[in-house]
Amino acid sequence: MSAARRRSTSAKTEAVIPARPFHYGTGAGRDLLCDQVRLAQLAKEYGTPLYVYSATSIRQRVQMFADAFAGMRHTLCYSVKANSNLSILRMLADFGTGFDIVSGGELERVRVAAKALLDRVVFSGVGKTAAEIDAALAAKILVFNVESAAELDLLEQRARHLLKRAPVAMRVNPDVFAATHPYISTGMSEHKFGVEMGTAYALYQRAARSKYLEPTGVSVHIGSQIRSAEPFGQALQRVSELVRELKSQGIDIQHIDAGGGLGISYQLEDSETFDPQAAVNAYARQVREALAGFEGELLLEPGRFIIAQAGALLTQVLHEKRNGNKTFVVTDAGMNDLIRPSLYQAYHAILPLRRDTKRKMAVVDVVGPVCETGDFFARDRELPELTAGDFLAVLDAGAYGMSLSSNYNSRARAAEVLVNGRTHRLIRRRETLREMLTQERGLPSK
Ligand SMILES: *Cc1c(COP(=O)(O)O)cnc(C)c1O
Repeated sequence: MSAARRRSTSAKTEAVIPARPFHYGTGAGRDLLCDQVRLAQLAKEYGTPLYVYSATSIRQRVQMFADAFAGMRHTLCYSVKANSNLSILRMLADFGTGFDIVSGGELERVRVAAKALLDRVVFSGVGKTAAEIDAALAAKILVFNVESAAELDLLEQRARHLLKRAPVAMRVNPDVFAATHPYISTGMSEHKFGVEMGTAYALYQRAARSKYLEPTGVSVHIGSQIRSAEPFGQALQRVSELVRELKSQGIDIQHIDAGGGLGISYQLEDSETFDPQAAVNAYARQVREALAGFEGELLLEPGRFIIAQAGALLTQVLHEKRNGNKTFVVTDAGMNDLIRPSLYQAYHAILPLRRDTKRKMAVVDVVGPVCETGDFFARDRELPELTAGDFLAVLDAGAYGMSLSSNYNSRARAAEVLVNGRTHRLIRRRETLREMLTQERGLPSK
């Protein structure tokens, strides 16, 4: 049933929150809007390529987790790597979230954006350096999610050196299969992440004996863009067993970290049927069931689910070209701005900023200007015929878009704008060519 129909069938049924804040204006207006702001206006004011995010949409997603996990002691530790813009981190801090970080750089971002919340930071990642560990120990973060025996040794060594006690959770590998792209699947023993359940048990005993380590949690993260809730339940059931076993050995686990990974629908056709609240609720049911009887705190590390659909990448058509029987639409954004199609064969819906029903449809490849065959946003996609100067929105680009961008082909990085209802503000200005070169030797002094 469509969201609109469901709303009209019963006044009592709560309105379904749409998956995306992007929609065409009704009536005479045929412009694509983000909340109430015309995207064409933003493209004109700030230029393209331009990332646009809806604060409304991000707030709704955070609230969905709060609703689904009501009555259960939990903290949402937003995964900073999904989108690490300082203004977005600050806004999330205002909504009451903690943070999941994977580097000293992300620790620094949280320090700048939300210093008071450093005690709500969990530090994940397979390759933490001594300097990163020292910085996190000094910042008194909530917990280190440790991924190997060697890392546990290093953590103990650094804690001893600084005369501190490091709170530790072992990231366990539950050996659960979750259907997703192979590059973002992490929860099986063949992956580099986490430690096997048996190994984890021994490491907890070792940590419990150390004066400088304090085992406080167990963590798990089975991958990203997982659309079914069951694998999360299976993984957490194994975590639950481990927690009970540890308890019988006198090791009292205070928190279970369920990781991130909840997926979204990237398909445009699903925008009427994909109900994000229902997805979180199904996820929460699995988590609650698996953790029944656990009285500690639940940590959640969603990234993509919070911000992917709140964002779009705006780009302008440079020109159209034909090779043989193929038509290419060349845009001013490229794989350096949004690498997901090239890296994961990811699908992103693309919409023109102005809907013109009189235009004929055509099957085209939407490609960037970067010198790589892999530089594309869409292949064999049916779109209204486009001409130079038209603007497009690449949807669901809020997560792993800007944060995975680069200067490849010496292209300066895009700007970012945050929309909130009728208002909008620049949260990262466009990089200048001069700024792009500043770390390099050989710049003539002015
Ligand atoms: C990337 C990552 C996340 C976030 O994953 P999403 O799929 O964006 O929700 C959470 N936890 C860890 C440890 C991660 O590496």
